[in-house]
Amino acid sequence: MSMLSRRQFVQASAFAAAGLLAGCGSSGGDAAPAADASEYTLVNEGKLTCISNLFFPPFESMNEATGEPEGFDIDVSKSLAEHMGLEVNWLPSQDFDTLVPTIKNGGKADVAIAGMTITDKRKEEVDMSDPYVDSNQSIVVKAGSSETAETLDDASKTIAVQGGTTGADWADENLPNATKKRLSTIIDAMSGVQSGLYDAVVCDLPVSRYQIKMSYSDLEIIEEIPTGEQYGIAVSKDNPGLTAAINAALAEMETDGSMDAIEAEWFGSAL
Ligand code: GLN
Repeated sequence: MSMLSRRQFVQASAFAAAGLLAGCGSSGGDAAPAADASEYTLVNEGKLTCISNLFFPPFESMNEATGEPEGFDIDVSKSLAEHMGLEVNWLPSQDFDTLVPTIKNGGKADVAIAGMTITDKRKEEVDMSDPYVDSNQSIVVKAGSSETAETLDDASKTIAVQGGTTGADWADENLPNATKKRLSTIIDAMSGVQSGLYDAVVCDLPVSRYQIKMSYSDLEIIEEIPTGEQYGIAVSKDNPGLTAAINAALAEMETDGSMDAIEAEWFGSAL
């Protein structure tokens, strides 16, 4: 009585074509590759079950009126599912630093779609899809403050970060003398800077830009940090066929205009 149901990948021909484009095709031929790239398992048949931290707008958040998840990644998940002949199912929000362990442990969700940077450390635990968004870091302070990266690197200064993120890692490495405050969400971090609880936030640039524009006009970005990050979708290492199918769907979404439409929806134009 397993929760896992094996599922044939339904769009084999589209997959093969897009797989070549994405550079993930393991060549044609009749012999099934050992990685079984034509098949994958899902925790619930017919559904792509997704997890995230739903406090990371515009990539993911909860619509205040409906309580439903919305955002760039939510639209990516819907389009992915459509391209794969699946429905999409979003589970409740969880802390960002629990996402990789949840996917690694298996049984609860198929993918984490969470503005998650592809890192070597994460790739030891889970597989990451091909990149679908480029990102960088930023330092955010109260507007008009005279802080700089140099003045912030002091024990008297508190830098708020979201636990387990690349922003937290950047702050540890580059502001080693500052006091770090690890929080569950970037919203808590920004609100804390707004109220004077913390001196700065280090977080992904697309998120700080969006947040300042939409909700925190009294904050400003004092530094854009070109970390050259790329977001990918986390999949269990036990499910290589799913990663392959997601990469194929992402490649289709790039060529058929789906990704451009989602970028236009959330960022005003294609990224
Ligand atoms: N891109 C950052 C990371 O992967 C932050 C992601 C997030 O907070 N959702 O660590």
